[in-house]
Amino acid sequence: MAKKKAFKAESKRLMDLMINSIYTHKEIFLRELISNASDAIDKLYYKALKENLSDVKKEDFKIELSVDKENRTLTIRDNGIGMSKEELENNLGTIAKSGSFDFKAEHDKEEEIDIIGQFGVGFYSAFMVADKVEVISKQYGSDDAYRWYSENSDGYEIINYGKDGYGTEITLFLKPNTDDENYDEYLETYTIERLIKKYSDYIRYPIMMQVTEE
Ligand code: ADP
Ligand code: MG
Repeated sequence: MAKKKAFKAESKRLMDLMINSIYTHKEIFLRELISNASDAIDKLYYKALKENLSDVKKEDFKIELSVDKENRTLTIRDNGIGMSKEELENNLGTIAKSGSFDFKAEHDKEEEIDIIGQFGVGFYSAFMVADKVEVISKQYGSDDAYRWYSENSDGYEIINYGKDGYGTEITLFLKPNTDDENYDEYLETYTIERLIKKYSDYIRYPIMMQVTEE
């Protein structure tokens, strides 16, 4: 059975901030997750060049998005370098190094908006739109894959998991809609396409949308 592990104090605070965020541009979560996917592909690409890996081909690199309307999930999949168990733990359990998030005991809402707008908050921005997040990852060269899962700032769990091929797959279980916020829009192809055009146009790898017939 998976044991729940506690987040580091800073991560817990950032996560609570995201969960309760009143930030009006929550849509930037997609930019953050796509940029992480692209970074992970970059890392594998450079490794492949350096080590002359014959099984990694540049033209195979891609970022795939898919939605499941019934379960209200959005999945972002990449075939980048992936994460080991330790990396899942260290990278997702710690606050973004580049996040420039200067933690004070108190920060006001305006400060929050500034920080999110200017720097982004990386992976944790997923919790602005999702109340549960699942990350399945297999590191390039490893036989083992793992599933990281968290549904609140109390903690996360990591278990062994099956996954074909290397890379990372992040599934967001969207929050319930409220009077102010319609999270269902992130299940719509046109919204996703709009967000990709707006924020991720510079990404050098193909971004594909898996459309399932209803
Ligand atoms: P940053 O991208 O600024 O480092 P993030 O919070 O966005 O911060 O991500 C934290 C770390 O988690 C990344 O540095 C990376 O090591 C790891 N990570 C996140 N998403 C992925 C992914 N799709 N594939 C591999 N590693 C990832
Ligand atoms: Mg990032």
